[in-house]
Amino acid sequence: MHKSTGPSVSCDHSVLDEPQAVLAAALEAYVAVDADGRVVGWNPAAEALFGYTHAQVCGEPVIDLVFPDRHRDSHRAGLAQLAAGEPGTVLGRRLRMPVQDAEGHEFQVEMTVVATTGPRGRIFHAFCHDITAAHRASRFTAVESDVSRGLAEADSSESAVERVVQVLGTTMGWPMAEVWLATEPRSSLSCAARHTAPARDLSEFEIPAVEPGAGLPGQVYATGQPRWIPDLAEDTSLPRCGRAAARVGLHVAVGVPICVGSDAIGALCVYGNRAEDPEDTLTVFLTGIAAQMGQYWERRRAEELAVELAHTKEEFLALVTHELRNPLAIIASTAEMFDKDLDTLTLDDQRGYLGTISRSANRLTLLADDLLDLSRLESGNLAIRLTDTELSGIIGAAVDAVRPDAAAKRLTVIVDLPSGRLPLCADPDRLRQVADNLLTNAVKYTPHGGTVTVCATAEDGWIRWTVSDTGIGIPPAERPQMFRRFYRASTATDRRIPGVGLGLVITRAIIERHHGSITFGDHDGPGTTFVIRIPTEA
Ligand code: ADP
Repeated sequence: MHKSTGPSVSCDHSVLDEPQAVLAAALEAYVAVDADGRVVGWNPAAEALFGYTHAQVCGEPVIDLVFPDRHRDSHRAGLAQLAAGEPGTVLGRRLRMPVQDAEGHEFQVEMTVVATTGPRGRIFHAFCHDITAAHRASRFTAVESDVSRGLAEADSSESAVERVVQVLGTTMGWPMAEVWLATEPRSSLSCAARHTAPARDLSEFEIPAVEPGAGLPGQVYATGQPRWIPDLAEDTSLPRCGRAAARVGLHVAVGVPICVGSDAIGALCVYGNRAEDPEDTLTVFLTGIAAQMGQYWERRRAEELAVELAHTKEEFLALVTHELRNPLAIIASTAEMFDKDLDTLTLDDQRGYLGTISRSANRLTLLADDLLDLSRLESGNLAIRLTDTELSGIIGAAVDAVRPDAAAKRLTVIVDLPSGRLPLCADPDRLRQVADNLLTNAVKYTPHGGTVTVCATAEDGWIRWTVSDTGIGIPPAERPQMFRRFYRASTATDRRIPGVGLGLVITRAIIERHHGSITFGDHDGPGTTFVIRIPTEA
């Protein structure tokens, strides 16, 4: 058994006679500087770590070689103190600090410095090794747990996103971090929270909103894919790029989508001076943060839905009962009259009664279909069967179906479709449902003598399809609510025009399942314009 004989210090002096050989073989980088900070020692591990050969650095000022610009003044002051014989806070301690290599790439090292005094005066000997991986892992862990805590403690989604960008900005040291969220009804993305480094003026780079597909956040949101831009100045596809980025000193950017389930609801973007971490690592890390945010929204959405459901339950029951009762009462009373007067009714009278019964029965069928679609929508089972199809024919058939009602109100129906076809990959039955919903609404909410216009064009892989009318319109203040279940505009309820407020919700869900969008278009004069954008490829 080994018996301890005191401190285990080697007593073999022959080993200590070979310090040069030991330093040359050491894995630890060794850098020695004189009192002026000029390099007097530089072993092969230092060559490997910093990318300069011994010959390149010998006699050069170490501070300009290995420290990032922003830290040089404080290192110079520290070295001057040590050279003057003051104890300072550096000697004999383990220090962590950023350094840079010959290519200007910044990384973290752990360093110890000791001083000796000999014939060449005071010499400082530094031993260091790269701790980038450990540093990065601990920073990532810190950010992840800060974000989790922040999201758990947040009392509103505003404070939640503020917390996320603040943690990313301060702990990770990115000069700019942003959370972008799609605005209802998903026609643009607005910056929900932004953190910028206090010492930086990045105002030129701060924009409040982007269109889906434009800029880093818009592209990440539209494609649902992360994006890494190694050199902002060279990426001219972005509105914020080139000279604007260079002027404010931002060079690299990473964006990842924020998703709830499989739906992108926004984007998380960070911008940096240079890429400190490899693309894959950073993208995976940010995707993890974005996933935490997505789960947060999913929780909130479920909570909001529960509250909303409780609120609307009574309203819903009253509405549905009313919508069921009306056609049922018409069917019952018409059938009763039919029965009573059967002997005296002419053939035309009989047709009239049967027509009334059939219209009411159709209304009930439509209501049942909408309710079924709503329940499928809420359980996530609204099936979309994509196939190669063609939109002009679908729109044409839907227009033909509303012509009798439009004619009864003397409405002018204008159809403006390209002479060729409008091919796309989509679910034709669901698109017909969209066309029916929008056209029946346009006819229903347009008084006698008005005009209903349908246009569709294809460009750059997208179909733009508009349905407009000169009807009662929707007050601008109510538009953000229009895609909520059972919501009906005051213009419709004031005029007692029957409806349930489900068609637009279902329409939007169908369009979004096709990765498109439906928004309100600019409209001159009274009336409403809906604009649908839908990709031609699945
Ligand atoms: P419904 O028409 O059965 O009420 P929708 O979901 O189709 O249900 O429409 C919701 C509401 O949107 C309508 O109640 C109406 O207030 C408004 N709306 C929809 N389309 C139009 C339109 N073309 N003009 C005016 N208001 C409309």
